[in-house]
Amino acid sequence: MWVMSMPPEQKNGLLRQLPAVDQVMRWPEMACLLEEHPRGVVVDGVRNILGRLREAILNGEPGGAHREEVVRQVTDAVRPNLRPVINATGVVLHTNLGRAVLCRRAQEAVARASSGFTNLEFNLVAGKRGQRHALVEELLCRLTGAEAALVVNNNAAAVLLALSTLAAGREVIVSRGQLVEIGGSFRIPDVMRQSGAFLVEVGSTNKTHRRDYREAVNERTALLLHVHMSNYRIIGFAQEVPVAELVTLGREYNLPVVSDLGSGSLVDLSRFGLPYEPTVQEMVTAGADVITFSGDKLLGGPQAGLVVGRRDYIERMRKHPLARAVRIDKLNLGALEATLREYLDPEAALEEIPILRMLLRPIEELKAMAGELAARVSEALGEQADVWVEEGISQVGGGAMPTAVPLSALVFMEYRDLGVNEVIRRLRLNEPPVIARAEKHALALDVRTIGMQEIPAVVEALQTVVRGD
Ligand SMILES: *Cc1c(COP(=O)(O)O)cnc(C)c1O
Repeated sequence: MWVMSMPPEQKNGLLRQLPAVDQVMRWPEMACLLEEHPRGVVVDGVRNILGRLREAILNGEPGGAHREEVVRQVTDAVRPNLRPVINATGVVLHTNLGRAVLCRRAQEAVARASSGFTNLEFNLVAGKRGQRHALVEELLCRLTGAEAALVVNNNAAAVLLALSTLAAGREVIVSRGQLVEIGGSFRIPDVMRQSGAFLVEVGSTNKTHRRDYREAVNERTALLLHVHMSNYRIIGFAQEVPVAELVTLGREYNLPVVSDLGSGSLVDLSRFGLPYEPTVQEMVTAGADVITFSGDKLLGGPQAGLVVGRRDYIERMRKHPLARAVRIDKLNLGALEATLREYLDPEAALEEIPILRMLLRPIEELKAMAGELAARVSEALGEQADVWVEEGISQVGGGAMPTAVPLSALVFMEYRDLGVNEVIRRLRLNEPPVIARAEKHALALDVRTIGMQEIPAVVEALQTVVRGD
């Protein structure tokens, strides 16, 4: 074994003991890595690690780098950057963790669409070029009751495309209470500027009346925009003008009404005790001319921006030069189609679509799972940690249902010799990474977002944490 634990004055000796790149490459442990990764990648990894170790020695940094450690570091270095993590936060639509988990059929659709050629833009019946949107348009119309549909890269792109197409160089009227900011620098005023449209704010932060819109209409007005307050609420002395009323007003002045619905749920989850969110179908019924929403929020599909509404407006958006720049790719389109198909049977969708299933998991099930996890962790860790189960609150996340308080069961842990922040850090650096939070100075694992099949990996991670790096 090659050990590095001598005093700093023997730097040269230590440097001489560092193995050469070729030597490491001949270690049997490298053979596994070479099966999975190109030789050049592994060699680069080894070279980087050895370089780092050399530097550490030159800086006189203490630390023993065993052969085992070198192998671990090389393994880490060649690992893909994007990789699975275990979400123990209870945030179902965690934007940092990739938002919606796809349903099984969507996963299969991605595999199918990626492993061979597809009819992405080829109309098999006519034998000529087709449109990618056509693959989901009928489905979207059937599910929402809309006349036409279009799909782009994400909802931010859908809003930008709608405004650019229908309002560039003209005015768009929006309530002051709806000037939304979504994480990641999507702000309605900024998107408006980018589209070339001019924002006309009406009303006040808490109250906007129909007459406010009416007074702002003039010959430069292009449309009335309604933005769903997806990630915040204004409560108390508050009022906004419902989309149906905006539509009446719009018809009077011959102005389209665009509704940015944000999340865009296709099923009303309020019958399960979750807060009421307007569904896409309701927006269509209310008469909105163009409705935009996300594919990977409450819909539970891939990243996508869905647009449904009146055929003439959708057609203009389709032909706008930006449409090409923000078009959806075939993998997401495949996943979207598969997800939408689940909604043809809405009851089945509640079971099949992972984020809906997670949101609707009964508390008894969550408690049973937390109990199971706690028992296994107690057994594995013995005296090294206190483990207990308590009720807690999950979050919907993804800027959806900000007032929801879904009751969950949390496994709490306090390690004897480790602070909670250090535990959280080590769990994050584990393989697979486990993402958890601190609550009441203890580690809190919300089982809502953990899969049954992930329990062994979570237990192992919680054990590994004690051993440290
Ligand atoms: C989330 C959201 C967006 C952006 O949607 P993405 O699909 O994340 O691009 C736009 N508008 C509203 C109201 C939203 O909630």
